[in-house]
Amino acid sequence: MTYPTEGHPALLRGGDVIIIGGGLVGLATGAALAARGADVSIVADHNAGEASRAAAGMLAPSVERAEGPAHAFALAARDLYPSYIEALAEVTGTIVSLNREGILELMFDEQQAHGKRSTLASLGGQWLTPEELHALEPAIGTAVGAVLHPGDGAVDNVALLRVLREMVEATSSVTIIHDRVTSIDLENERPWVELASGRTMIASKLVLAAGAWSPGVDGLPRSIPIEPVRGQMMSLGATPVRHVTYAGDGYVVPRSSSLTVVGSTMEHVGFSTGTTPEGMRTLAEVAKRVSPTLGDARPLERWSGLRPVTPDLLPILGRDPDYPTLLYACGHSRNGILLGPLTGECVAALASGETPSLDLSPFSVERFEGSRVTIK
Ligand SMILES: Cc1cc2nc3c(=O)[nH]c(=O)nc-3n(C[C@H](O)[C@H](O)[C@H](O)COP(=O)(O)OP(=O)(O)OC[C@H]3O[C@@H](n4cnc5c(N)ncnc54)[C@H](O)[C@@H]3O)c2cc1C
Repeated sequence: MTYPTEGHPALLRGGDVIIIGGGLVGLATGAALAARGADVSIVADHNAGEASRAAAGMLAPSVERAEGPAHAFALAARDLYPSYIEALAEVTGTIVSLNREGILELMFDEQQAHGKRSTLASLGGQWLTPEELHALEPAIGTAVGAVLHPGDGAVDNVALLRVLREMVEATSSVTIIHDRVTSIDLENERPWVELASGRTMIASKLVLAAGAWSPGVDGLPRSIPIEPVRGQMMSLGATPVRHVTYAGDGYVVPRSSSLTVVGSTMEHVGFSTGTTPEGMRTLAEVAKRVSPTLGDARPLERWSGLRPVTPDLLPILGRDPDYPTLLYACGHSRNGILLGPLTGECVAALASGETPSLDLSPFSVERFEGSRVTIK
C-alpha cells in the first residue's frame, strides 16, 4: 500500500494512540489514556443501533454471572463505578445517577424458586419471602419470592455517555474525529489507519473499540467472532419500583423519578434496527408481570440497539499476539456498560506499557483460535 508522506495534507497525526469507536468503551479508554498523559485520537463514526446509548445501564455481575477471574473482573468493574462517577463529577460538575440498591430477581413458580434457593449460599444473594418482598417493594405484583443481589444496580448510561463525551471533548490531548475507519495496516512499525473521507492517520498504537462493527474493519490480522444481537427497549412514564428487577425473560430499570426502562429482546437479525409489535408486546408483558402499576403506565419511547456479542459473552481485551501495536477492546456483549470504565483503565494501562490491575487472560483474542463456535 502507498501512503501520503509526512506533511501531506491527507495525512493526519493520530498522536500516541488512535481509538476506533466513540461508544462508552472508546471514550472510557480515551479518557484513561489522557489521564496518563497520552496524546489520543478517537475516530467516531455514527451508526444506527449504537449499544452504549441504547442500553438499560444495569450493573449486574451477580445476575449476568461469569466464572472465575472473569467474574472477579465484573465485580471490580461494578465496584469502580462510585469513584468513577465521583471523578467525572469533579471535572464536569455533573453527577451521573447511580443506583446501588441491589437487583431483584423475581421467581414465579415454586420449582424455580427451590432451585434458586439451593444455590444462593454460593452466589451471595439473599432470599426474600413474598412478605419480605412486599415490604421492600409494595408495587411489585405476585411472585413466590425473590433473590436480592446486594451491591448490583444501574447507572444512567445515557447521562454517563453524554458527560464522558463532554469531558473527553474538553481534554486538550484528545481529538475526536467524526469519520469511519475503513482499514488498518499493521505491517509498519507505526500502524496506519485509512478513513472513509480518504485521509490517512498514523500513530504508535491502535485500539479497536467499534462495538458490533469491529469485525468490519479491513486489515485485522484475524477474524474476531463478534455478532450484532438486537435488543428492543421501551420506556414508561412511572417509577413504582425502586430496584432494578428481573422477571423471567426481561427486566425493568428505574431511571429517574418518572421514567422506567423495560428490556429486552435478544434477536439475531444482523444490523437491522427498529422495533416490532411483537417485541413491544413482550416488553409490555414483562412490565406488567413486575408491577400492575407499570402495566398501566404511559408508554414514552421505543428503540433498539445492537449488542456486540461474542460466543462466550465475554469481551475481547488485550494485545494482538502477532501485532502488539493493535489492542482489542470490543465484544462486550450484554455487559459493556458494567465493564466499560474498567476496560478503559486496563486497556489504557496496557497501551502505556503498564501491567493492568486485573487479570485479562480470560478475555484474550486467542481463546477463539482454531475453534469454530456458535454464538449463543
Ligand atoms: C438493548 C441493550 C441493552 C443493554 N443493556 C445493558 C445493561 O443493562 N448493562 C450492560 O452492562 N450492558 C448492556 N448492554 C450492552 C452494552 O450496551 C454494550 O456491551 C456496550 O455499550 C458496548 O460498548 P461499545 O463502546 O463497545 O459499543 P457501541 O456503544 O456500539 O459503540 C461503538 C461505536 O463505534 C462506532 N464505529 C463502528 N465502526 C466504526 C469504524 N469503523 N470507525 C469509527 N467508528 C466506528 C459506532 O458507530 C459506535 O459509535 C445492552 C445493549 C443493548 C443493545
